[in-house]
Amino acid sequence: MEHVNPFDVVKQQIDECARILGLSPDVIAMLKSPMRELQVSLPVRMDDGYTQVFQGFRVQHNDARGITKGGIRFHPDETIDTVRALAAWMTWKTALLDLPLGGAKGGVVCNPKEMSPGELERLSRAYVRSVFPFIGPEKDVPAPDVYTSPQVMAWMMDEYSVIAGKPQFGVFTGKPLPLGGSPGRADATARGGIYTIREAARVLGIDLSKATIAVQGYGNAGFFAARLCSELFGAKIVAMCDSSGGVCCLAGADPYEAHACKIETGSVCNLADMESISNEDILELDVDVLIPAAVENVITHHNAPRIKARIVAELANGPTTPEADEILYQKGIHVIPDFLCNAGGVTVSYFEMVQNFYLYFWDEAEIRERLDKKMTAAYHSVLNTSREYKINMRQAAYVRAVERVVEAMRLRGWV
Ligand code: GLU
Repeated sequence: MEHVNPFDVVKQQIDECARILGLSPDVIAMLKSPMRELQVSLPVRMDDGYTQVFQGFRVQHNDARGITKGGIRFHPDETIDTVRALAAWMTWKTALLDLPLGGAKGGVVCNPKEMSPGELERLSRAYVRSVFPFIGPEKDVPAPDVYTSPQVMAWMMDEYSVIAGKPQFGVFTGKPLPLGGSPGRADATARGGIYTIREAARVLGIDLSKATIAVQGYGNAGFFAARLCSELFGAKIVAMCDSSGGVCCLAGADPYEAHACKIETGSVCNLADMESISNEDILELDVDVLIPAAVENVITHHNAPRIKARIVAELANGPTTPEADEILYQKGIHVIPDFLCNAGGVTVSYFEMVQNFYLYFWDEAEIRERLDKKMTAAYHSVLNTSREYKINMRQAAYVRAVERVVEAMRLRGWV
């Protein structure tokens, strides 16, 4: 995989957007500069009795529109620049969905696959002890992300509450239901993306009941996306992969079987009666919908000319580089950009925050309806902007989101 610094990508995207909107240098400088960053060293006692020191980050990119929000990733390749980029994308994501929130992101350099549950718990608690003054229900509210789970949020919320000396359920979202989690949060990222795919298919005249789908990445977002595409639309999941490899089959696979296979054997690539396919080749399949649901920078100028999907629905953050964006646009491929497509997670997180503040919970049907409304409105506002300005969908999403952030900064007298 080509190495691209995601924060350079963000800066490039901001410059493009600034050209379209005619933004002044002070505004551009503010958008490119995360407002606050914290780097911490976390000593954690491992099961063998030795202490290992992990590096952790929390970056608050912009809080002009409100409390900052964004996940925490546990990932061996985490860097401060990746966290900065992801924090900026959260600022655009919350603004695009018109949530009264800003953007932040956290990360710890670690490999959770090689850690025991006890080690993970101690790491999660150590992270909270270090970032305690930096986060809070009315300040900065983290959530799950790559390799962090509702259980991790539960440990973190518990540690925060112990230090605060009172229950503070609202400091994290994506918690388990008995601890103030929201109904509908588990599949929210995928469900939100599915609503945008449904709208895109309507616009493009694609019948999703006959559509073929390839899913790259089979974590929370990828699995639920495959499942919902098959359950809600009757679409065929013809290929799927995870970090160990992939499988494809024209007749379509059962998303539940693939999930069970991943839990039992560690990877979907052990699914029976399927052909093997690499992580790279899956992106180039001739399918109606390609769903990158893993990590950043997988569609670059190298493979973009060979992408054949009609819709690329970016459930991952940052899967497409700016050069690749332009190639896909020229090829007429309809890209549903990441901070639109995967905004369902933070949208239901916002509902979780509201429910935690009010101590009153909605049922799942209500959450789904509110999510659908938000995602559908955001999709059409991006589509209309892309048509109005004759720009690609990502640039259009930037225009909508950045306009809102800049308006808030102006009203506050920052620029
Ligand atoms: N980690 C998710 C994202 O990247 C959710 C963030 C949140 O719920 O705050 O959007």
